[in-house]
Amino acid sequence: MKAVIVSTEAVPFAKTGGLADVAGALPKALAEVGVDTALIIPYYRHVMRGDFGEERLERIRVRLGKNNQAGSIYEARIPGTDIPVYFISCEPLYNREGLYQENGVDYPDNVERFTFFTRGTLQAVNSLGLKPDVLHVHDWQTGLLPLYLRSEYEDDFEKIPALVFTIHNVATQGNFDKKYYPITNLDWSYFTLDGIDHYGRFSFIKSAILYSDVITTVSERYASEIQTYEYGYGMESVLKRRKNILYGILNGIDYDVWNPAEDEYLEARYDADDQEGKRACKAALLAENDFPDDGLPLVGMVNRLVDQKGFDILVEGIDGILGCDCRYVLLGTGERKYHRLFTEINKRHPRKFKVHLKFDEAMAHRIYAGCDIFLMPSRYEPCGLGQMISMTYGTVPVVRATGGLADTVTDVYKNPRVGVGFSFDRYSGRALVETLERAVSMYKKDPDRWRKIVLRGICRDFSWLNSAEKYAEVYETAVNVAEERYEAKASS
Ligand code: ADP
Repeated sequence: MKAVIVSTEAVPFAKTGGLADVAGALPKALAEVGVDTALIIPYYRHVMRGDFGEERLERIRVRLGKNNQAGSIYEARIPGTDIPVYFISCEPLYNREGLYQENGVDYPDNVERFTFFTRGTLQAVNSLGLKPDVLHVHDWQTGLLPLYLRSEYEDDFEKIPALVFTIHNVATQGNFDKKYYPITNLDWSYFTLDGIDHYGRFSFIKSAILYSDVITTVSERYASEIQTYEYGYGMESVLKRRKNILYGILNGIDYDVWNPAEDEYLEARYDADDQEGKRACKAALLAENDFPDDGLPLVGMVNRLVDQKGFDILVEGIDGILGCDCRYVLLGTGERKYHRLFTEINKRHPRKFKVHLKFDEAMAHRIYAGCDIFLMPSRYEPCGLGQMISMTYGTVPVVRATGGLADTVTDVYKNPRVGVGFSFDRYSGRALVETLERAVSMYKKDPDRWRKIVLRGICRDFSWLNSAEKYAEVYETAVNVAEERYEAKASS
């Protein structure tokens, strides 16, 4: 089985969120279960400035509306492996500060940027002779690829690959005004309600949902949630139509990156058998944030500052949050309203609530390790990595039971013998505060029980191997579905 993973971000090359963690880890995990893999991502400024030893292979020209846009294909290896990574380059489109936006504003030419990437990828797969059994695309940015393959590129391929699409977040859809449609050079016959028309706009994600052979999303709970009005963000009926080929596969975490026993970012290292180093990490994090070391629990948050992540209910419950007998450290960037609000809270309560408004990988590691509690009260959460990382670092998660948070964080009250964290169902500031208070109270009053919960979390296996085996099975299914489709097409 040979699979080419197509993503618009991947660790360690370029990252805005969990998609990068997944696209960076999956090729390595697939290789371990015997799938031959390659990765394709855009050649962003971040990548150009990195030290990845890439070499230019060949030039490409991609049609964008009436123009032919020139670009190139570069090749390197995923660091520490033999797995090839191909970068699709186009200076004017990708040599920018951001991946999708700057200062909270999307680039106005994202249709061009991701059409170029998608078509450039299909050309590269072909001209480099990669001959994959499966093309595995991720999220809306690569959503037009299945439609392009089926409408335009199939004849170029000696062996036509099966198409797998993974939804990391159904709320980000890539729906664009029809005035941009000519840039795609797609026939107008696809711009219908049965096709990629979504309320008068054309939708990248709808294209992938309709034209892929298999769809996956990143937890079982989210796979069923997105077929409902509340979580489907308008895609629920299309997804319901395709539910027979929709699978939920939980993300893993990459232990090469997230491992407290080997983490270079930490003050001290530790593991399940010897957690002494965690104390040193907490002491260092307290000092870094000008907090006294007086035994109060430290609550961490590392997340994008958007409503999805539950910051609206956190603000709703802020009096209760500040009344809780603990301290907070928050790392994140996102919507301006939250930058303003949290700057204000930090200013008023500097000894209680510390805020870092930036993207900082090293600080993220220090927070996962140095805190006692990790807070993730998401409105919805396709999978969520923070709760899995925090458990691995012995930091107990407090979460809202939705999507992957529900699938990974068993509540200690509902399941005392296997519980690894605290969770609540109702999406409200009050439920959040009550649950946090329960966690803080157990931390202070029942240290023995707390230690057991911490240990259970550290010992949980979130490795990618389980998930990679499931992806390998899903690839087999996709190949079968695609073969039936091609046979039906050939005989019609
Ligand atoms: P999402 O993909 O929706 O952003 P996930 O929980 O799946 O959420 O993944 C978030 C990833 O991004 C985690 O690895 C988290 O540590 C990281 N992250 C989020 N915000 C920041 C930040 N400000 N600085 C460093 N890392 C961050």
